Amino acid sequence: MIQRLHRSDLGNSLRTLMENDPAFRPVAYFSMEVGLKESIPTYSGGLGVLAGDILKSAADLGVPMAGVTLLYRKGYFVQEFNQDDWQKEKPVVWDPSKELTLLPNRISITIQGREIQVGVWVYECIGATGYPLPIYFLDTDFEPNHPDDRKLCWYLYGGDNRYRLCQEFILGVGGLRMLRALGYMNIDTFHLNEGHAGFLTLELMRELGYYDPDRIREQVVFTTHTPVPAGHDYFEFGLIDQVFPDDALATIRRMMPNMPGVSMTELGLRYSRYVNGVAKKHAEVSNAMFKMETVDWITNGIHPTTWVSSGMRKLYNKHIPGWELDPGRLVQALTIPKDEVWAAHQASKLRLFARVLESNGVQLDPNKLTLGFARRAATYKRADLLLTDVARLKRIAGGKVQFIFAGKSHPHDDGGKRLLQKIRKAGRELGEELPIIFIDNYNMEIASLLTQGVDVWLNTPVRPREASGTSGMKCAMNGIMNFSVLDGWWIEGWIEDVTGWSIGPEPTETNADLDAIDLYEKLEKKVIPTYYNNHDKWVDMMRHTIALDASFFNTHRVVREYAAKAYSIDFRGM
Ligand SMILES: *Cc1c(COP(=O)(O)O)cnc(C)c1O
Repeated sequence: MIQRLHRSDLGNSLRTLMENDPAFRPVAYFSMEVGLKESIPTYSGGLGVLAGDILKSAADLGVPMAGVTLLYRKGYFVQEFNQDDWQKEKPVVWDPSKELTLLPNRISITIQGREIQVGVWVYECIGATGYPLPIYFLDTDFEPNHPDDRKLCWYLYGGDNRYRLCQEFILGVGGLRMLRALGYMNIDTFHLNEGHAGFLTLELMRELGYYDPDRIREQVVFTTHTPVPAGHDYFEFGLIDQVFPDDALATIRRMMPNMPGVSMTELGLRYSRYVNGVAKKHAEVSNAMFKMETVDWITNGIHPTTWVSSGMRKLYNKHIPGWELDPGRLVQALTIPKDEVWAAHQASKLRLFARVLESNGVQLDPNKLTLGFARRAATYKRADLLLTDVARLKRIAGGKVQFIFAGKSHPHDDGGKRLLQKIRKAGRELGEELPIIFIDNYNMEIASLLTQGVDVWLNTPVRPREASGTSGMKCAMNGIMNFSVLDGWWIEGWIEDVTGWSIGPEPTETNADLDAIDLYEKLEKKVIPTYYNNHDKWVDMMRHTIALDASFFNTHRVVREYAAKAYSIDFRGM
């Protein structure tokens, strides 16, 4: 039995405890999706990749944490296109037993009136200093479960609202029950990465044996990720009644009284001791939306050694020793000789272009300015803002600029699919005069090639809908400048003509015309001329991007902030 410690004792005793008992994990991190690497396709986009990056940094820093998510035997999907450039989704084929270890532990939960056996796979994330951090993937595809129940952990964002509700019950209630079965008895903090796992509060209440919301609140912290109400999961009680077992139903009705249903965000807000958004602006927007004043912010980051190119990594290791465990040291990037920065960058650019030649049959020119744009093809991300005035774009950029796009649209999002179609068709029409390349099947591997190999990263979301955004931070880790609408993290990372360029006016209201005009103006008067006529300044901006942005927008800093502000624990090893 592990001795239960008061928080203030943790700092001193943590090392000893961790070394003596691997089950000592005061923090459990719950996320509907986790993106660790390409070969574990249990993520769809930024939320999952962020979760993976946070868990990796926690392992690097020796933070005693365990991760919990679902398995998704069918993954998200593989993206293909038909003759008409319309996205088609193909199933992902992967074998969990190649990447994960199936544990013997089983727990049971009841949903839709049937008892279901939940099993668990583990992935040991080994940190840079050898510290192992377990990530648990729940799965129901076992005998003797009902055939329908066996499919509950197959698809990420694949089913209807009822399927989703079942998944969230498995993640929250099943996840906590599984942690107990695995021997984790003294977790102080349950961290909800987005509201999906909020039903774990029901299980906490069941364990407690009596109704005491304050005792629950003390144990939960909640990170919200969506600045628009439509982005929050919502389940009507009519549906919950059909899915939940009686005890959980009675508890959730008591916890969310006088409401027609449960918003998972609302649940998270009400039953956590600490709530944060993922950038300063996002916290402001969230406070206004939830009519609160207490939403704090911890701006997102990316995992340094996952996203840095091999060339830049060598360079940093040579000039800034110790940066991998303490990326704050990248402030010293201004001391790296410019020619070395440029050589490392060009090597990544060639690697990206080799991939483009292989997959698209197009030979791009490594001496030409190359802009990248890749993210989920949600309409608010406005991948087509660049194409607002194609004639003008041709005049400004023809013969000088190459563009590379990538991105998946949600299978049910026809608006997103139309965006992709428009970009692919424009690429075909413009041809060699203004190459617009589309790389199929955006995933972590392609994200990595792009955020290491382009010259400038373009981002044009509708304000204030980009809660944070992280792909631009991956670029910063590689000395690549952002050219972006002032939203999410970029408001904090942007210094005009130093770390990149803004697009459009500063106020929150979006005016698409102004944004497009500004995009063209700056591309013509700043980005293109600096690249071709002022190489020295360009490379100096690259170094400033590393020093000012990569040094801060990384998950090592993020995890330290969570430890200090949200978990209230002090890690000696950090
Ligand atoms: C980093 C990443 C994202 C998130 O990018 P945003 O800029 O936040 O949209 C999405 N998908 C993949 C595959 C990524 O690697």
